[in-house]
Amino acid sequence: MINITFPDGAKKEFSKGTTALDISKSISEGLAKKVLAAQINGDVWDVTRPIVSDTALKLLTWEDGEGKNTFWHSSAHLMAEAIEVLFPAVKFWVGPPVENGFYYDVDLGDKKLTDDDLRKIEVKMVELAKKNNDYIRKEISKSEAEDYFKEKGDEYKLDLLQGLEDGAITFYTQGSFTDLCRGPHIPHTGFIKAIKLTNIAGAYWKGDEHNKQLTRIYGVTFPAQKLLDEYLLMLEEAKKRDHRKLGKELSIFTMDDDVGPGLALWLPNGTVIIEELEKLAKETETAQGYKRVVTPHIAKENLYLTSGHLPYYQDSMYPPMELEGVNYYLKAMNCPHHHKIFAAEPKSYKDLPLRLAEYGTCYRYEQSGELFGLMRVRCLHMNDAHIYCTKEQFAQEFRSVNDMYIKYFKIFGIDKYVMRLSLHDPAKLGQKYVDEPELWIETEMMVREVMREADIPFIEVQDEGAFYGPKIDVQIWSTIGREFTLATNQVDFAQGRRFKLEYTNQNNDTETPLIIHRAPLGTHERFIGFLLEHYAGKFPVWLAPVQVKILPISDKFIDYSKSILERLKKLDIRAEIDDRSEKIGKKIRDTELMRVPYMLVVGEKEVSENKVSVRRQGKGDMGSRPVDEFIHEVLIEAKERLG
Ligand SMILES: [Zn+2]
Ligand SMILES: [Zn+2]
Repeated sequence: MINITFPDGAKKEFSKGTTALDISKSISEGLAKKVLAAQINGDVWDVTRPIVSDTALKLLTWEDGEGKNTFWHSSAHLMAEAIEVLFPAVKFWVGPPVENGFYYDVDLGDKKLTDDDLRKIEVKMVELAKKNNDYIRKEISKSEAEDYFKEKGDEYKLDLLQGLEDGAITFYTQGSFTDLCRGPHIPHTGFIKAIKLTNIAGAYWKGDEHNKQLTRIYGVTFPAQKLLDEYLLMLEEAKKRDHRKLGKELSIFTMDDDVGPGLALWLPNGTVIIEELEKLAKETETAQGYKRVVTPHIAKENLYLTSGHLPYYQDSMYPPMELEGVNYYLKAMNCPHHHKIFAAEPKSYKDLPLRLAEYGTCYRYEQSGELFGLMRVRCLHMNDAHIYCTKEQFAQEFRSVNDMYIKYFKIFGIDKYVMRLSLHDPAKLGQKYVDEPELWIETEMMVREVMREADIPFIEVQDEGAFYGPKIDVQIWSTIGREFTLATNQVDFAQGRRFKLEYTNQNNDTETPLIIHRAPLGTHERFIGFLLEHYAGKFPVWLAPVQVKILPISDKFIDYSKSILERLKKLDIRAEIDDRSEKIGKKIRDTELMRVPYMLVVGEKEVSENKVSVRRQGKGDMGSRPVDEFIHEVLIEAKERLG
């Protein structure tokens, strides 16, 4: 018998040679139909592979990232099978899963694939999927594997084989198709219920432009037709909500070639949003005892040698500029500057926790091919802060930071989010991670406990920690279900020492503080890019660049409109008058297009009754009401930051 330990800690005995599929069947038949793969002591396995020793087991379904990856990778095999049936001369390179689906790089000789061909491959995939063919794993010797692909004439797979060690080589076969693959795969093709091939692109073999160009075919598959329908709908909606398109239509930001790629220029409308976000951050941080600081955009080379950004992070920094014989760098992060502020005056335990906040401007060198609207830029404004605290204060501080994230999620109507606790890998201490094994374990434990106590849902990921400590990565989903990486909340037990940061404790001994790096609102660039999609440009009143637009039916009512405008302005409500000589219908349509939350239509009747006719973005006519009443309502909506 062997012991199987489940993720909740429960243990159960099974006979040696049992499989994850057997185990899931013993739990329920329903579960067995959903299990795509299994995590065995951290590695992902086929569910049909015999388990021969005590094991920590996690059954993976569509809901798990690894389950999804296995599903999509198996779909790449299915696509390869279909391609081979239709184009027997095809040769295959690699077919991995990607963020949304999978691809396979293939060599089709002179054949140029058309959209029509894609549809044919799709139809063939559907037909093959229905055969419920098992993905069969076979261990094979290197020479046998070589013989197989020599006979097949596939030099790409032979090239892959060269890098593999004899004894660790496996083939997977489903239906008529055999691939060299490490696995794992889903049990059989019948799991793949909905298929869409999305794109054809060119891809140089091994990413080298001197090599032959292969054809990369992208696809996405799902275990149910409904999921594919939802996905396609989401894509369509995402296109409409593209932040680059909306950013232009709503005059939020622009890019200019003379300024440079990746350097956003914020137009007045975008700047209003920036200032409202900063106001929110400042209010929240002040209430939690943060202090604000201001630091320069550049610093001497030495500072970044101390922090370790040089040389490790050099590729992501702008090249240095020389001044008076010294190299200066644009700052890629605010931390070193804040550490110097901590060090500027002697500190005692009574000064801690010290929370230093700044909307800091950072510059990062992203390759031009990687730049993407506001999502990947070279100049960014970060909702940054560093908390310097004692070990005893750590849990409380870390919890407050998490609370701040949750508070913001509520304000912005972010209902779906996941926190990922990224841990170190003991095998990589001294290389990828600071060589402090005990501190790693201790801080990881502290973070884990805080998350558990606060009852925040989180997952743990091995080998993704920061260089200097464990971190929480936050993923959020927009209203249309697209995922964004927001920001991290990081523990740092190394930088304090590198910068020789010290405080005197109660016993008059010097100690190094722990540091928390946090940026719940991420950068203005990425967050506003997210918000544009999330709200489809229809910002809530408190964020809307123009909150109220007054639309006089004719020039006769401009004076009355101006009197309302003055009252709104005095109360800091962002309002404008559309005084063009256009028909009221056109004024309404144009204002709708700019997604202004409130329109006040003003004519004869409104003037005589001292009222306004209110139209709400997306809701239409709300009837007329006294001016005072409207002002009162809009003020509350803005002040309370109602969504
Ligand atoms: Zn495979
Ligand atoms: Zn930092």
